[in-house]
Amino acid sequence: MLAIGIEGTAHTVGLGIVDGACHVLANVYDMVKPEKGGIHPREAANHHAEMVVPLIRKAADIAGIDLQDLDLVAFSQGPGLGPCLRTVATAARALALSLDIPILGVNHCVAHLEIGRGVTEAKDPVLLYVSGGNTQVIAFARGRYRVFGETLDIGVGNMLDKFARECGLPFPGGPILEKLARDGKRLLSLPYSVKGMDVAFSGMLTAALALQKQGATMEDLAFSIQEVAFAMLTEVTERAMAHLDNEEVLLGGGVARNGRLQEMVARMATDRGARMFVPPGDLCIDNGAMIAWTGLQMHRGGVRMKLAETLVDQRYRTDEVPVTWR
Ligand code: AMP
Ligand code: MG
Repeated sequence: MLAIGIEGTAHTVGLGIVDGACHVLANVYDMVKPEKGGIHPREAANHHAEMVVPLIRKAADIAGIDLQDLDLVAFSQGPGLGPCLRTVATAARALALSLDIPILGVNHCVAHLEIGRGVTEAKDPVLLYVSGGNTQVIAFARGRYRVFGETLDIGVGNMLDKFARECGLPFPGGPILEKLARDGKRLLSLPYSVKGMDVAFSGMLTAALALQKQGATMEDLAFSIQEVAFAMLTEVTERAMAHLDNEEVLLGGGVARNGRLQEMVARMATDRGARMFVPPGDLCIDNGAMIAWTGLQMHRGGVRMKLAETLVDQRYRTDEVPVTWR
């Protein structure tokens, strides 16, 4: 079976084509890069509307298939920005109707976990999902994917991007801060906000910006933000693993590309006799392949959707998804 997946929850519109053995035949995307300020949902949606058709063609070309060869259309149903979700849902419905093949709406967070299981050796991992908008620790328990801990305010990637932006750096700020952090020398004092299993980042953002105004170097700031934020994430991930007696940790989301985060989580995993898995970078960020693969799994598990059931859900919770394919 061949599925095409359309991702479009936020800044990225992505198209992926995947087969039933999780071979990624194509995975292409385009990201909105606002000249200044943050992402405006409607501008991002307009961007997705412009890019989605060329990307569908490009994905089919790269995969070397005809659109007629497709068996399933999957799309990101939520959570995400309303205008973006509605745009890709409309594209997915039009494609499924014109090809006369089934359509399935996929939970974006579950897709990050499923693609990790698909392309790494992880079988039943705890996922540390760290992206722009989302930060969650997710694992499978009692028939569902459940959130064991999450951010109480903003996603860790959003914190990195906002800090960078306020300091005059372009979007996305995360990778730039990673480079700066390598030359950091001093660990500055920043709030370590872990509340039970949850984390919070807005206090750290405020504190880091205040230190910047007082003259702290960008290198020290980037280094300190990474050390403190990633230690918080590693702590709650470890607690989830201990609670579940789980020996696999999977990273997902754009921030999972960060070498220092990988190092810290790998160290935690080794110390407890567990293993860490990181999918290739293009499958960590928001991408269409993960949506296509999760759609295939759902279809295999007997999930079917009528068009009326493909309404988007901006607040689609990870634990609302009936997991029939595991
Ligand atoms: P996503 O929302 O999953 O598509 O990922 C985008 C987020 O990942 C943005 O907030 C980026 O700043 C962040 N990101 C990407 N690469 C890195 C990196 N190497 N270090 C830290 N953050 C990163
Ligand atoms: Mg994501």
